[in-house]
Amino acid sequence: MRISVIGCGYLGAVHAACMAKLGHDVVGIDIDERKVSELSAARAPFFEPGLEELLKEVQETGRLSFTSDMSAAKGSDVHFICVGTPQKKGENAADLTYVDSAMLRLLPHIEPGNVVAGKSTVPVGTATRLSTLMADQECGAHLVWNPEFLREGHAITDTLSPDRFVYGVIDGSEDHPAVAVLDDVYATPLEAGTPRLVMDHSTAELVKTAANSFLATKISFINAMAEVCEATGADVTRLADAIGLDDRIGRKFLQAGIGFGGGCLPKDIRAFMARAGELGADQALTFLREVDAINMRRRTRVVELTRELCGGSLLGTRITVLGAAFKPASDDVRDSPALSIAAQLQLQGADVTVTDPKAIANAARRFPELHYEQDVDLAVSNSDVLLLLTEWEQYRALDPYLLTSKVASPRILDGRNVLDAGKWRAAGWTYRGLGRP
Ligand code: NAD
Repeated sequence: MRISVIGCGYLGAVHAACMAKLGHDVVGIDIDERKVSELSAARAPFFEPGLEELLKEVQETGRLSFTSDMSAAKGSDVHFICVGTPQKKGENAADLTYVDSAMLRLLPHIEPGNVVAGKSTVPVGTATRLSTLMADQECGAHLVWNPEFLREGHAITDTLSPDRFVYGVIDGSEDHPAVAVLDDVYATPLEAGTPRLVMDHSTAELVKTAANSFLATKISFINAMAEVCEATGADVTRLADAIGLDDRIGRKFLQAGIGFGGGCLPKDIRAFMARAGELGADQALTFLREVDAINMRRRTRVVELTRELCGGSLLGTRITVLGAAFKPASDDVRDSPALSIAAQLQLQGADVTVTDPKAIANAARRFPELHYEQDVDLAVSNSDVLLLLTEWEQYRALDPYLLTSKVASPRILDGRNVLDAGKWRAAGWTYRGLGRP
């Protein structure tokens, strides 16, 4: 099939490459000329494992190209909308200007029978509004909301073999013509047994925000337990192991630590609250305000714990932060808890050096006041305290015995509870985890 992918960021670039991998002819369209030229040269404009190799592989087949010219969408059977929906400045609501503008620019190039498939995460009601706009223009195309659930760091596998496909169509019916078209797009994963659920527009939009709200709640639940453990001297990691063995609960997303961040969970739960308010259903989601508050408190708690570890004052202490990305295997620093903690420490008088295998360039653009050092040995050299804030494999594997001679003082705060506390203490380190004695 011929496919256009509008918006080639973390979601769209991966989606475009994966659709070409599935055998379709794909054009990726983005307003960012720099991104277009990088992608056209088969270079990934951000770090995602396997993406660069996949871009090379599919571009050699001639099935994938990139442009900033929206008219290239003409002739495609399916148009995927993958543009950003960030948080509005100073408000909780989502900023839909990119979705609206992409739609308006796409409309003149849509042909009867085409399918426009929205993948961006949008407030419930957006698809109905956009399908009315399409109907008013009499373009004869169908709108499907087909939310995306990929995880950065696993984006290619998640796109090629997702847990499920969700199709939101206007009447919620399996017989809607757009269902068969999307089934053709996803024929390979569907044949491999991926479940596919058809529903109405609003339910499909809500599936995505509900899923993210549930995950955020699970993380904040265990972080709330960590606060109680800290007050009582209990160990949240053993608590999580024990409750996680109950298969009604499960151990995933019960890793207490510095909390969630990134370009999705924080802004999605806030946009959900804002939308519920507009719909008069704000009471239903007041718990998400607490989920958000618990999450933000973790960052302050790490600053306090670091101050304690430094003997009561941060002034002039040399702190090394291991990790800047919001999670490992990504260079995404949007709302990264690691960077937010690093910046607060620096503001309070510490001398902070941040290291990260992939995210330094992005981090330096957001927080130019921090020091950055790519080389871990140089970053930790003469440090008064280390903070492990993004659990990259290379930081989890650090040898406490070898590190002792490099730092000024062997003290570490494990913000992700991933290190073996006993091993670090045996090597002479003062070790602090979160929610652990
Ligand atoms: P991003 O900021 O990385 O990418 C958005 C891209 O859209 C940018 O490259 C931007 O230049 C482009 N764009 C903006 N307006 C445009 C227009 N009018 N025409 C063409 N291109 C335009 O954002 P992202 O992380 O890829 O997220 C995109 C959407 O997907 C968001 O709604 C997000 O919530 C959702 N999502 C993201 C992920 C993820 O892990 N990143 C996962 C699931 C869903």
